[in-house]
Amino acid sequence: MNQPQSWEARAETYSLYGFTDMPSVHQRGTVVVTHGEGPYIVDVHGRRYLDANSGLWNMVAGFDHRGLIEAAKAQYDRFPGYHAFFGRMSDQTVMLSEKLVEVSPFESGRVFYTNSGSEANDTMVKMLWFLHAAEGKPQKRKILTRWNAYHGVTAVSASMTGKPYNSVFGLPLPGFIHLTCPHYWRYGEEGETEEQFVARLARELEDTITREGADTIAGFFAEPVMGAGGVIPPAQGYFQAILPILRKHDIPMISDEVICGFGRTGSTWGCLTYDFMPDAIISSKNLTAGFFPMGAVILGPDLAKRVEAAVEAIEEFPHGFTASGHPVGCAIALKAIDVVMNEGLAENVRRLAPRFEAGLQRIADRPNIGEYRGIGFMWALEAVKDKPSKTPFDGNLSVSERIANTCTDLGLICRPLGQSIVLCPPFILTEAQMDEMFEKLEKALDKVFAEVA
Ligand code: PMP
Repeated sequence: MNQPQSWEARAETYSLYGFTDMPSVHQRGTVVVTHGEGPYIVDVHGRRYLDANSGLWNMVAGFDHRGLIEAAKAQYDRFPGYHAFFGRMSDQTVMLSEKLVEVSPFESGRVFYTNSGSEANDTMVKMLWFLHAAEGKPQKRKILTRWNAYHGVTAVSASMTGKPYNSVFGLPLPGFIHLTCPHYWRYGEEGETEEQFVARLARELEDTITREGADTIAGFFAEPVMGAGGVIPPAQGYFQAILPILRKHDIPMISDEVICGFGRTGSTWGCLTYDFMPDAIISSKNLTAGFFPMGAVILGPDLAKRVEAAVEAIEEFPHGFTASGHPVGCAIALKAIDVVMNEGLAENVRRLAPRFEAGLQRIADRPNIGEYRGIGFMWALEAVKDKPSKTPFDGNLSVSERIANTCTDLGLICRPLGQSIVLCPPFILTEAQMDEMFEKLEKALDKVFAEVA
């Protein structure tokens, strides 16, 4: 093999990149990371970057948390791998399921494991199809989600995701229906109050159910705060308006808490922050603080009971992954839950969220920032060409990408999403690190806005 010289060239020669703007990589090179220190990553050249994306929202305890590393090592020593099929599972799996039900908002429940958030959403959809068929409604299969939602990349979860880029795969599959994104600032109509906007979205849901037939709809999935859609908190009263409609029509409501779960919004679950009770929760990312690939479906009492009955009737739920309930993943998750809840991480999010917001409010005074939005430790700034009319920049200017690239050059990782810049740092961030984040971001914003204005 003719080995190219640099790490960057080697990466570009042999790796296929996901969700990456390739012209930009060809021009700028790949950031090849060797290790991390707290919330910083370090590349092969020794350059340090404050990762205000927590990896992909998931490295909430930073990149070198000793307790998590030790928990992983100890479990590798004890029992490095097993499955959860055929009536066997590891002791760690048993303990994690108990723990997840205990820390869930549910009084009782059951847990099923996957390797990722996408697979957890796929699993939930299959579970709903399985359940409704077992209850004599095999036609109850359609899935409701929202435009701008992100639920994953497998064929089913990508169909749930409400992003135009999935058309290159010929997705969504039939039977996946997308409703209006509950972002009042962007989708509220001229003269429409937030309350009227929410009422319109509730009517749209009711009309969709009437048009399609409740008996054809398997479930409704929603992130409490849309993450990869650009950090979009729900319009006020949104969940309170739609939940009674779903209940009335026996449509289970699934809270996709892959990002919001375990502290990101300031409480353990996004559904608690926004005060609604789903029928099931999808978890991943923060579940292991990013130290192991793992996802989980957590069923609340009603679905747990019904799925249990369906499994008893059919004798088997024919689904699962080789590494479902992996003992090392479970041991890490047990430790991660303890770290986030009991080592002050969730508390740090709550404590610093007002400071985060105040910083963004100040930054958003700029004429080219249309809106800042978010909660806890997940925020976005939306760039606009014209503030009063909310007119976006010409897409060809790639404004958010330019801001993110300038940040990278300054040693700050943040994410461009549409015309927004997303900040979702690890929960261990200190005040000084938050100041560093804002200082670098402001430099980048001013440089890029001066270029494009
Ligand atoms: N749901 C949500 C809300 C997510 O943010 C993501 C990942 N960003 C997923 C599902 C998919 O998770 P994964 O990438 O682990 O498949």
